[in-house]
Amino acid sequence: MNESATAIIGCPSCGLLQRTAHCTGPELAYCGRCRTPLVHCAGKSLDVALACASATLLLLIPAMCAPFLTTSAFGATRSSILPSSASALWQEGWPLLGIVFALFVLVFPPLRFAALSAVLLAIRVGARPRWLGPVFRTANTLQTWAMLDVFFVGLAVAYARLHVSIPVTIDTGAKCFIACAVLSLVVRATLDKRRVWRLIAADAGPPFAGPGIVCPGCDRLLPKDAEGAHCPRCGARVRARRADSVPRTMALLLAAVLLYFPANLYPIATIPIDFRPTAYTVLGGIIDLSKSRLLGLALLVFCASFAIPILKMAGLSWCAVSSLRRSNKGLIGKTRVYRLLEEIGRWSMIDPFTIACFIPVMDFNVLLYGRAGPAATPFAAVVILTTLAVKCFDPRQMWDRAAHPGG
Ligand SMILES: [Zn+2]
Ligand SMILES: [Zn+2]
Repeated sequence: MNESATAIIGCPSCGLLQRTAHCTGPELAYCGRCRTPLVHCAGKSLDVALACASATLLLLIPAMCAPFLTTSAFGATRSSILPSSASALWQEGWPLLGIVFALFVLVFPPLRFAALSAVLLAIRVGARPRWLGPVFRTANTLQTWAMLDVFFVGLAVAYARLHVSIPVTIDTGAKCFIACAVLSLVVRATLDKRRVWRLIAADAGPPFAGPGIVCPGCDRLLPKDAEGAHCPRCGARVRARRADSVPRTMALLLAAVLLYFPANLYPIATIPIDFRPTAYTVLGGIIDLSKSRLLGLALLVFCASFAIPILKMAGLSWCAVSSLRRSNKGLIGKTRVYRLLEEIGRWSMIDPFTIACFIPVMDFNVLLYGRAGPAATPFAAVVILTTLAVKCFDPRQMWDRAAHPGG
């Protein structure tokens, strides 16, 4: 496959079109205006990504079918498999939480890694079927929502919490799951998406009459009149900027702020502490972890469950208001904040996943049981709404509007 040495790239953060070289060494190319990294070449390998994606897909089978966790107390044992968390949440009256767990842990990860394995294998053997573009775009969309890595940390917190009360064993399913989570991070680190897109179909480019427009699905530069049409490479609807970005972001943020109060005021779960059922709120759980001398986990949960949601709502409101006011102050800083929010938002799901882990194996008698609390559903909703809000916001409009303060 013939690959040209350079391409015109539209910066995803500020929209500036610029010519950059493709990966030839371990270099990092930044946007000339907002300093967003545009090309990151170190450690990229499509063969490693293919090997790890297919290994993840294969290991997900035992991870979901083999015994996951086993606990014992009073001579009785309880054993779980991964899907039993979804059914336990559903049966205990938290159907939305069960569906969220099922989608983010049981459905999206196998879909993402099946799609990635198929695309990378087709490229490896030199095949270019028409479905490659749309399937690779779907795999990339699922990157945020396939939460193997986040669930892995939730599992670690659940293990630490259970371990202080009763004996708990990590079974084959959980071991395979941990391997999947680690491999999924390797896939993310080694996958050069721009290269995959170029191998699916070469980057088009000027000469066009007038400036080009960048496809939101695959970053291909298209002529300006492609607005509203479907991209020939990935099938996405081509838009120069995300539609109604600020009003949609504000609406999602408002819903998240309203749900933030019940999510933090009500108990998120009940677990036995010193063999007494104890309901705890998000902050109460953090205090409890620190009292159990699990300071590292307490800090982790504090960041993921308490600090990140506040940071997301405050940071995104700042960016959205700035865009509305056509402010040109601190644009590079705001762009950095937005990129940080994009990366860290999904990690707030650790607490709901911790609950999903211990519910099926913490059910012995009226004193020794674990349950989700009334805050768990609004908490998960806050995480999903703020993540959607970040996706709806278009940071390029901050730069567009700042460049045209008169409107
Ligand atoms: Zn930029
Ligand atoms: Zn495209």
